[in-house]
Amino acid sequence: MLAEPVAGVDYPSTAAQLRRWFPDDEACIEYLARLRWPDGFVCPGCSGREHWRTGGGLWMCAACSRKTSVTSGTLFHRSRSPLTTWFDAIWFVTSSKQGMTAAALQEHLGTTSYETAWSWLHTMRRAMSRPDAELLGGAGVEQVEVGEAFLGGVTRDVPGATTLEVPVMIAVERLGPRRLGRVRLETTRHPGTLEALHFAARVTGPGATVATDGSPKFRRLALMGFEQTCVPGFEEPAGRILPGPRQIALQLNRWMIEGMRYGVRERHLQGYLDEFMFRSDGRTAASRGLLFFRLVERAVNGGRRPRE
Ligand SMILES: [Zn+2]
Repeated sequence: MLAEPVAGVDYPSTAAQLRRWFPDDEACIEYLARLRWPDGFVCPGCSGREHWRTGGGLWMCAACSRKTSVTSGTLFHRSRSPLTTWFDAIWFVTSSKQGMTAAALQEHLGTTSYETAWSWLHTMRRAMSRPDAELLGGAGVEQVEVGEAFLGGVTRDVPGATTLEVPVMIAVERLGPRRLGRVRLETTRHPGTLEALHFAARVTGPGATVATDGSPKFRRLALMGFEQTCVPGFEEPAGRILPGPRQIALQLNRWMIEGMRYGVRERHLQGYLDEFMFRSDGRTAASRGLLFFRLVERAVNGGRRPRE
């Protein structure tokens, strides 16, 4: 993984540059190879480095003759659409501030059906989620505020169901009196239980200060290696939600409504939460194109930890 990717060098910084860089699928394949094997090809079978390039974007290992496609195991694998169309779609989706609807993506691509555009969006959303996400806390973080809020407009997975409010667990970094940092969100079926405690412990780095309401369950955080603090004025458990999580809940509710995500099915909700996290992590980086880079990079390295 590149530590600090540079606009115009590691990723295009404008739509015009995107088109210049990726005129055909061969150019896309070279780019994917560079992100997948930053230090040159490595055979997934025998770790050999000697190779030949064969046609159709395949790398053949000189030692064991195994053929590897740069797109195998990625969201581009077995897609009938050209890679240039995928790159175009990813640029379109990541460069829109509010996120994207399937109808807008379909209109942009022109050639795609609504169903295809919808499934592409979901595929991209999956690539936005990261099981290896960094833990909250660390330099510049005063505390990690944890809380639960309700998100409206979610539909149960049964026909004719009305919308309902579902509980979401929120952890957010407090950087200063008016500044928040990275966000972690998870759906829960059991608000007000120990799940919130385990969530807080799962997403926070060791030694960080975790700020909670006065609910007694959170006192266990101290036994788990965290500094736990109860925010003054929030001693009453299950009362009001802490300022940081409340602000995120408001943003999230607005984002769902403005992006016409109202009525989202419950089983798709975590995907939308992942997209929200992906975008808010990228908000600190002003560079246009950085989210494009991160999504493509994550797509080719899907879920795998960086090598070495
Ligand atoms: Zn090999």
